[in-house]
Amino acid sequence: MYDPAKPALSGMNLDEITAFVKGLGLPAFRARQIHSWIYSKYASSFAEMTDLSREVRELLEEKASVALLELAHLEVSRDGTRKYLFRLPDGQMVESVLMSFSDRSTLSACLSSQVGCAVGCTFCATGYLGFKRNLSSQEIIDQLMCIQRESGQRVSNIVYMGQGEPLLNTEEVIKSIYTLMNSVGIGQRHITVSTSGIIPGIERLAEEQLQVTLALSLHAPDKQSRDEIVPINKKFPIPHLIGSLHQYYNATGRRITIEYVMLAGITDRLEQAEELAELVRTLHCNINLIPYNPTSTADGVVVYERPSREVQERFKRIAERSGKTVTIRLERGTDINAACGQLHNKHEAAKQ
Ligand code: SF4
Repeated sequence: MYDPAKPALSGMNLDEITAFVKGLGLPAFRARQIHSWIYSKYASSFAEMTDLSREVRELLEEKASVALLELAHLEVSRDGTRKYLFRLPDGQMVESVLMSFSDRSTLSACLSSQVGCAVGCTFCATGYLGFKRNLSSQEIIDQLMCIQRESGQRVSNIVYMGQGEPLLNTEEVIKSIYTLMNSVGIGQRHITVSTSGIIPGIERLAEEQLQVTLALSLHAPDKQSRDEIVPINKKFPIPHLIGSLHQYYNATGRRITIEYVMLAGITDRLEQAEELAELVRTLHCNINLIPYNPTSTADGVVVYERPSREVQERFKRIAERSGKTVTIRLERGTDINAACGQLHNKHEAAKQ
C-alpha cells in the first residue's frame, strides 16, 4: 500500500528528484545517481543503489519510496502480450500493455493517460467506465517503469493509447513525453499520441514542435456514423479536425496515422471506404484499419461484429485509392482482454 508520507521517485524527472533530495539536505549529485538507478538500471529499492552511502540509503528508505504504482494484476497472452492492471496511490486502477512482435525487435508499451474516459466511444470498454480523473505525468511514466522492472526488458516504443483521451490531459501528457525523452531515453520518433480528435489538444501538441507521431482515431469518414460511435465528433467536426491534422503536419513534418476501426455494417461500407480515400487524399498520412474484435466486448458495451476478411480486403483496396499506405492491423492479446478498459472491467466485475 502506497504511503503518502513517503513520496515515490520513479516517474519524476531529474529536476523533481533534485528538488526532493535537496529538501532532505543532500547534494544535487545524489539526484543524478538516483535518477540513473531508476531509469538506467530499473532499481526497485534504495538498497540496490550501492554507490550511495549506507546513511543516504537509510535516509531515503525512511523518507521516500521508489515505485508509485502497485501491480494489482498481470495477464500474459499466448502471443506474449502482457497486460498490467496497476493500483494508483488513491486506489484507482489503470491498465497498460506491453507488446512484442515476432517480426521486429521493437517492444511497445501502451500507456494510459486518464482513469476512465469522458469521450464515450460506443465500442470501447473504457468509455463505459466514465471519466474518473487525469493521471499525473509521474503516474504515466511509472506505468512504463513498472513494466520494465517487472519484465526486465527495455521498451523501445510508446503509444498513448491505453485508457483515457491523452489530449484531454494535454499538459501532463506533454510533460511525460519530455520525461520519456530526457529521463527514460526514448526518442521522440518512437512515441505516438493517439487522440479521438480533440482539436485544441492537437493544436497545443503542435506548438511543441516535437517529432512525435499523432494518431487520429477517425473510425468513420461521415458525420452521421462518427457522431454515433465517437460522440466527441459533434463538438469537433471532421472538416475542422482534418484542418488541425494539416496544421500538425506543417508544424512538425510528421506524417499522421489514421486509425479506423472496422465495425460490420457500421463503418465497413464500401462507400465509406471511398469517402475515407477522398477525405485524406491531401493529408500526409498512413491508414491503419483495425477489424473489430467481438470477443472484446464487456458488460454494458454495445456489441458490434467484425467484418469478414473479404470485406476488410475490399475496403482496404478502395481506401488505397487515396494514394496512402493502408494496413490491416494485427490484433494483439485477444485472449487476455488487451483492448483498453477490458481488464479493468473484468477486475471490477470479479470484486462484485
Ligand atoms: S476509444 Fe479512447 S477516446 Fe474513445 S472512449 Fe475509449 S479510451 Fe476514450
